[in-house]
Amino acid sequence: MTSTTTHVEPRVRPRTSDGDGKRYAHIIRAPNADAVITEAMVTGTPVVALCGKKWVPSRDPSRYPVCPVCKEIRAQMVG
Ligand SMILES: [Zn+2]
Repeated sequence: MTSTTTHVEPRVRPRTSDGDGKRYAHIIRAPNADAVITEAMVTGTPVVALCGKKWVPSRDPSRYPVCPVCKEIRAQMVG
């Protein structure tokens, strides 16, 4: 069984403004995506999105636009 889920890529910017709207909700693909995300949030372990982006997930992915690359890849998988 395979499922996907969306999660936010937190972007840490030490100096520049954080107002450039570069955050995306990436999609990961795993047999137990929710469990993988949950564990990653707890342990701080990075996960790999469909687009190849590696990041440590955080909450509230719905607040951000879905990564266009992840979205396209998932659409191709579903179709
Ligand atoms: Zn992505």
